[in-house]
Amino acid sequence: MRASQSFLPLLKETPAEAELVSHQLLLRGGFIRRLASGLYTWLPLGLRVLRRVEQVVREEMDRSGAQEILMTVVQPAELWQESGRWELYGPELLRLKDRHQRDFCLGPTHEEVISDLARREIRSYRQLPVNLYQIQTKFRDEIRPRFGLMRAREFIMKDAYSFHMDQASLEEGYRAMYDAYCRVFQRLGLDFRAVEADSGAIGGKRSHEFHVLADSGEDAIAFCRHCDYAANVELAESAENPEAAATPAVDTPAAVLTETPDIRSVAAQAEHLGIGRHQIVKTILVMADDRPLLLLLRGDDELNLIKAQRHLGCARLRLATAEEAEEHTGAPVGFIGPRDLPAGLPVLADLRLRGLQDFSSGANQRDKHWLHLQWGRDLPWPEAWADLRLVQAGDPCPRCAGGSLEICRGIEVGHVFQLGTRYSERLGVRVLDEGGREQTVLMGCYGIGVSRIVAATVEQSHDERGIVWPEALAPFRVGIVAINGRKSPAVLSAALELHDRLEAAGIPTLLDDRDERPGVQFATLDLIGLPHRVVVSDKLLAQGMLEYRARRDSDNRLLTPDALWELLG
Ligand code: ATP
Ligand code: MG
Ligand code: MG
Ligand code: MG
Repeated sequence: MRASQSFLPLLKETPAEAELVSHQLLLRGGFIRRLASGLYTWLPLGLRVLRRVEQVVREEMDRSGAQEILMTVVQPAELWQESGRWELYGPELLRLKDRHQRDFCLGPTHEEVISDLARREIRSYRQLPVNLYQIQTKFRDEIRPRFGLMRAREFIMKDAYSFHMDQASLEEGYRAMYDAYCRVFQRLGLDFRAVEADSGAIGGKRSHEFHVLADSGEDAIAFCRHCDYAANVELAESAENPEAAATPAVDTPAAVLTETPDIRSVAAQAEHLGIGRHQIVKTILVMADDRPLLLLLRGDDELNLIKAQRHLGCARLRLATAEEAEEHTGAPVGFIGPRDLPAGLPVLADLRLRGLQDFSSGANQRDKHWLHLQWGRDLPWPEAWADLRLVQAGDPCPRCAGGSLEICRGIEVGHVFQLGTRYSERLGVRVLDEGGREQTVLMGCYGIGVSRIVAATVEQSHDERGIVWPEALAPFRVGIVAINGRKSPAVLSAALELHDRLEAAGIPTLLDDRDERPGVQFATLDLIGLPHRVVVSDKLLAQGMLEYRARRDSDNRLLTPDALWELLG
C-alpha cells in the first residue's frame, strides 16, 4: 500500500483524554478514532490488526474442532427472562424496545441465544459433543468505559459454546479450548498467563482467565513460582460475570451488610451470605436512610452502592460523614479512595467538602482511621482484621508447601468457563441419551477479547518511539521509506518495484512515498510499529544497497536486495 494514497490520519500531540499508552499510541498512529464514550471506529491500519487477531483466533478455533456461526447482536428479552438474567444482569445490559413495544437487548454475551438454538436443533446424544463459536460485536454498557479499546462499550469478542452429555466430555472440551487459547496467545507473541478465575484455594478449576501481563492491567494476579498456582485476586463484578450472575448467593449486591458497624462481625456475615472471605475487597460505612451500615463490597464502588440501595430498598444511601463515622466506629478523620475512582465522583467530592482528610495518597495510613478503604492493592491491612485478609504478596502459597505468593498485574484477554447445566436447565436444553431417556446437557463457554487484545498487545509491546507490533499482528510487515521519492524518479521506481515484489510474495508492505522529510517518515514508521524498515535513497541506489532496520533494534544495516530478500524469508 502506498502511504500517499492511504487514509492514515496521524496525531502529533498525545490526546489528553488517553491515559494508557496503548490508547495514546493507537490514536496517534491512526488506528482508531473515538465516536462517543466507549465507542470506537476502526481506521484502515487498526482494522488490519484486528483482522489479524481474528484470523489467528479463527484458525485455532477451527483446529480445535469448533465450528463458526454468526448470531445476532439484538436478542429478544424472553430468552433472558427464561434464564433469569433479565433481572440479574443490571444496567450493563442495554435494553431497547422495537416499534411494537417488545423488549430486546444488545447482546453482551450469547448463552441464551445459543441455548435456544441448541434446544431446537439438538435431539440426540449422537449430535454431541459440539462446539460453536462466533467472532462478533458485543455491547456492554460499562459503568466506566475507559482506556480506549481496553474497556469499550462496543467491542469484538470471540465467544464459543460447547454442549456435552456428561462431565467427562465437558472436561475434555474445556481442555481443548484451554489448549487452543494457549496456542492463540503464543502465536500472537503475547507474554501471558492462565490463571484460576477464583482465587480460593479450592475451586477455580472450572474457570480460567488468560491474562496479558502488564503493569497497567486492571486485575491483580497472585502466583507461585514453586507450583502452578496462579489466580485472579480481584474478583469480577457479579453482574458482569455470567457465571456469578447466575448464582444467587453472589448476585445480591455483592455486599454483605451489617447493622452494627463492627468490623469484627464481618467474617461471620460473609460466611452467612456464602461469600468467601477472600472475595471481600473493601468496607465502607454508609448511611441507609440515616441508619448506619457497614457495607462489605467487591468490585465497582459506584455500581455496588446502586445495587445495595436497591437491595435494601432504602430511599437514600450515601457514605457516612466524618461526624457520623466518628459516632459509630470510633474516630475516623478521613477517607481513602481507591486509585481508580474518578476524582469527580460525587461521593468523594462530598467527603472532601465535609472536611474529611483524603489519605488516598498519604504515606502513613496504618494508624489512621478510615472511612473508605480498598485493600489488596497498595494499602496496608489493618492488623486487627488479619484473619480477613486477602491474598497478599509474600503469603504462603495455598497449593504447595514452601512456595510464597507474588503479585503481578494483568489484562484479562480470555476466559473459559464450565457452565454445567446452569443455562441448559433453565432453558430446557435436553437430548435423548443412549437408552432413549431425556437428559439435560452440560455446557461450557469460552470468550476471547479480540479487540482488547489489540490494546493489550500495544500495552506490552511499545517503546518511547511508538508501537512495536509482533510479526503476527503487524498491519504491514515491512515499511519502505522512499527518501526524496517525490523528487527522485529513480528512488520512487526502485521503492515501488521493491514494494510490488514484496506484496507479490505475500508480504504486506507499506511504502512511505509521501512528500515528507525523512525524519517525519522515520518517526511515522516507528510510531505505527512495523517490524521491518527498508530505506531507499539515491545514495543507497548508487551503492546498490538498501538500508534495513528491525523495529526492535537500534542498528541500521546495509544490505543488498538479495540479502534483504533472504532476511524477510
Ligand atoms: P472484565 O473483567 O474485564 O470486565 P469480563 O470478565 O466481564 O471482563 P467476560 O464476560 O469474561 O469479560 O468476556 C470475555 C472477554 O471479553 C474478556 O476476557 C475480555 O477480554 C473481553 N471483554 C470484556 N469486557 C470488555 C470490554 N468492555 N471491552 C473490551 N473487551 C472486553
Ligand atoms: Mg473479568
Ligand atoms: Mg466485565
Ligand atoms: Mg471474564
